[in-house]
Amino acid sequence: MEALDVLAVVAHPDDAELICGGALLKSRARGERTGILDLTRGEMGSQGTAELRAQEAQAAGEVLGLDARRNAALPDARLRNTQEARETVAGILRELRPRIVITHWIEGRHPDHRAAAELAYDSSFLSGLKNYPAQGDPFRPMKVIHALSFREEPTKPTFVVDITDQMEKKLDAIAAYGSQFGGAVQAGEVFPGGGRALVDQVRAHAARVGSMIRVEYGEAFWTRETVEAPTLGSLSVSTF
Ligand SMILES: [Zn+2]
Repeated sequence: MEALDVLAVVAHPDDAELICGGALLKSRARGERTGILDLTRGEMGSQGTAELRAQEAQAAGEVLGLDARRNAALPDARLRNTQEARETVAGILRELRPRIVITHWIEGRHPDHRAAAELAYDSSFLSGLKNYPAQGDPFRPMKVIHALSFREEPTKPTFVVDITDQMEKKLDAIAAYGSQFGGAVQAGEVFPGGGRALVDQVRAHAARVGSMIRVEYGEAFWTRETVEAPTLGSLSVSTF
């Protein structure tokens, strides 16, 4: 298949919609090819079954207009950055050939999220090694970025994507996970805001992130490497 521009590599079906659904929608709207790799089927979740979550992931993927959605079927709630898992993920990266990989923040209350962040990073590097024993031809993504959405650490985002025009659709994609979020006040790394509905909590968070770049809604990301500015004259976001 044709190479992807952007691939989210996340622990559970629904994680990508929460942490970077708006950015994926925006990429899609700009003609970039997008995909999601769910590392597990979420079979250990308290609500819903693996089958139901797969149907919901499919429906959410249609809202996002993804070019590819894969599931690595690694063990939920026991996700580890093992040699075997790295070979599985590297094989999928070699097939989808994403230029950019988005994954979780390096900390997280769910151990799978921490493991996924490491696994995505290591697999991205290893899949480029000529003699690495994964399926497919060697391929290395150009860049790995970590979504900062919903994190409490004082880590400053490297950049924020304006998702103002994508916010409602992002919420539609999240709503596709009825088994997980029907009546929910928290999900993934989204802590509850008293009894406030999840949808309002997600909206409030995106509004706070958006204000960092002076727009209505945003999603925050972090990279190890510095981001380039084309010229000083083209810089955006007012100091005042
Ligand atoms: Zn998750």
